[in-house]
Amino acid sequence: MCSILGLAGDHDIASTLIESLKKMEYRGYDSVGVAIKDKSDILVKKGVGKVNVVNHDLSMDKMSGFTGIGHTRWATHGKVTKENAHPHMCNTNSVGVVHNGIIENYVELRKDLENNHGITFKSSTDTEVIPNLLQIYFERLHDVKKAIMATVKKLKGHYAFVALFKTGELAGVKNHEPLILGVGRTDLLLTSDVVGLPDDISSAIYLENNQFVIIKERKHKIFDFEGNVAQFVVKTIPKNYQNVTKESHKYFTEKEIFEQPETILVAGNDEEHLDKIADLIHNSDYVYVTGSGTSYNIAVIAKYLFSRFAGKKVEHVMASEAKYSSQYLIPNSTLFAISQSGESADVLEAVSIGKKKNFKIISMINSENSSLARESVFSIGLNCGPEIGVAATKSFTSQMAILYKIVNKLCDGCIDVNFKVISEAYASILSDVSEIQKLVKDIKDIQNLFVIGRGIHYPIAKEAALKIKEITYIHSEGIAAGELKHGPLALMDGSAYVLVINPDDDSYVDNISTVNEIKSRDAKVIGVSNKPDANYDYWIPIPTVDPALYPLVEIVSLQLIAYYLAVERGIDPDYPKNLAKSVTVK
Ligand code: GLU
Repeated sequence: MCSILGLAGDHDIASTLIESLKKMEYRGYDSVGVAIKDKSDILVKKGVGKVNVVNHDLSMDKMSGFTGIGHTRWATHGKVTKENAHPHMCNTNSVGVVHNGIIENYVELRKDLENNHGITFKSSTDTEVIPNLLQIYFERLHDVKKAIMATVKKLKGHYAFVALFKTGELAGVKNHEPLILGVGRTDLLLTSDVVGLPDDISSAIYLENNQFVIIKERKHKIFDFEGNVAQFVVKTIPKNYQNVTKESHKYFTEKEIFEQPETILVAGNDEEHLDKIADLIHNSDYVYVTGSGTSYNIAVIAKYLFSRFAGKKVEHVMASEAKYSSQYLIPNSTLFAISQSGESADVLEAVSIGKKKNFKIISMINSENSSLARESVFSIGLNCGPEIGVAATKSFTSQMAILYKIVNKLCDGCIDVNFKVISEAYASILSDVSEIQKLVKDIKDIQNLFVIGRGIHYPIAKEAALKIKEITYIHSEGIAAGELKHGPLALMDGSAYVLVINPDDDSYVDNISTVNEIKSRDAKVIGVSNKPDANYDYWIPIPTVDPALYPLVEIVSLQLIAYYLAVERGIDPDYPKNLAKSVTVK
């Protein structure tokens, strides 16, 4: 969350910085700002809103200066206001900072700075203590490196920040939040994500935790928090992560849904790693699967798939809840951690809890250089390319495909899974969205949408409900269909809408009984199924496939319902309010 950027070049860098900020906006988009060092001063421009809007008002891209920092915010501390937007300057205007993460001890640091150093705070963020500490130490020690080392000793929490000094240095500091140094021919760019790199930078250094980089006169040096010079590797950025655009699509979310016929074919295409992961799971007495949001739904799906097809018990653990039940986690187990970005703070915390219990960590990730990949003994790549839409779509189907591949190894090929068939099923769903478009026109003003499914379709119902609430702002609940009569049926009346995930598998007959119970209470039923039924008020057809594979197929229709419903309601699905991609704070 939040994107932080720092750029040192040999030309006016403001327009490059703004272009990078636009690419990074998916990480946070409530406010934006830049600070640029001109010949003598640091000038700040910032405001509430998206990059294009604020830039239109303030002409940030026209500022002059060769070094600067930029930020798009996802507020954690302090309301969404201009004062709280980053960059934050120290009291003497000689150090500016953009920050990602949380300074946990900011209240006591603020008090100390106010009482003992006469600092006046202009914002209510946790961030503003950082430039003031840097300035105080710089004034005392006359050295940027020493000032950073002294400052990080004071800070508690997980954070990354980029600081711009009036003396011309640019510094980037990483402590459990992502920070990358892009190395170009003339420019050096510090960024939270490679997606922010300009087209002409294709090499990058991934900073390790507790490291910082100082850039002076476009030369960089990397140190650890003790001040030792650190070794680094320069990596080449994959081409598909550079210059990511919507192509012919109106939104990234649409583009990513429509990419699935291709992405499903390359998910986890690494037999060696799949074998290693399958072996490890096979040889482990206890396997936990953890994730957050969409990735947690994958963890629940894992439980159904592994038990049903491989006779293997796996337990799902919601990453954000792991610490509250850690005493029940059995030492020396295997933890399968799932995170699209590989940077989810909750998942990384679950991993660190697991490591304390001597767990073997395996993971599914979409970025081989992510923190999660580095924490794992083996990881397997989704290979689905950058996912910019905040609502996970193609990463979900790729994660599920990998589960099917692993399970199939454990059960010696007991599932007849041919991903070409799945790809064709996706193409067929995507080629005719007319029924979905008719449906969303009718239901665009509803207040609630229940989604029900049985067995493995229950976590799919949870995932569909998550998509719907994330991008349409309609309240939606994913419910195990059999549970309806144990409570939610009380909510059924003429105004209720229930989406039933009802493929022709062993859940079909029971679902039809549930549909009858819903209809008896006058609620409307939307059936997502390969078979029509007279009780459906709306039928969203899906292709007929092997019964074991319906979860892979039905989800695409459900994603489309959420997407077109968002568009019909006039909501930009790429930037849902209050959310951001890659949740790196707890
Ligand atoms: N804590 C900082 C703020 O609220 C940064 C938030 C973040 O990284 O998401 O402004």
